[in-house]
Amino acid sequence: MTYAVKEIYLTLQGEGNHTGRAAVFMRFAGCNLWSGLERDREEAVCQFCDTDFIGVDGPGGGKFKTAEALADAVAAKWPKGGRPYVICTGGEPLLQLDAPLIDAFHARGFEVGVETNGTIAAPAGLDWICVSPKADAPLVQTSGNELKLVYPQKQAETDPARFEQLSFEHFYLQPLDVIGDPEQTASHVASAAAYCLAHPLWRLSTQTHKLIGLP
Ligand code: SF4
Repeated sequence: MTYAVKEIYLTLQGEGNHTGRAAVFMRFAGCNLWSGLERDREEAVCQFCDTDFIGVDGPGGGKFKTAEALADAVAAKWPKGGRPYVICTGGEPLLQLDAPLIDAFHARGFEVGVETNGTIAAPAGLDWICVSPKADAPLVQTSGNELKLVYPQKQAETDPARFEQLSFEHFYLQPLDVIGDPEQTASHVASAAAYCLAHPLWRLSTQTHKLIGLP
């Protein structure tokens, strides 16, 4: 299969359980909950996205004809030493991430993580599954390592209590970042923090990469 990749870059994971860990982010193009076009946003299932996942024109992006070629491009971004870690994100990575690609990463010594909206079942063999439910999109992937809920969302279906019985090791609330509206963002941080204080199953996940100026 040919993989469409928006960008590949080395950074520090800014969110959730692996905050602060070096990782190669490999962003697939395309999502099943929004076209990525502003004109479609109001009609989209997921309306708060702040990610450009259209096309293959980002740094390191492109069309990769084989799993081996894509894994080589990811491996080329890793510095020497440590445990190589790739995070497959998007867009929605499970539209494209498959067993041959996971195998190709493992063959190069990588741990393989995924950040998915949970609407597609994850293939076997992943080392870290992070599910971030969106709006009222049906949740198919109901187990994994961490559930990271952007908070608050408008839909009643995204009440955190709804997810507490699912099979995850960690539960994170991540305040909704409203681009260009720091006051609104601050109120989301405060409400997410208050929720975590009242419901200790949940931990606060802040987007630390933004605080330190990393992508
Ligand atoms: S599911 Fe994720 S990538 Fe897709 S539109 Fe929503 S936030 Fe963006």
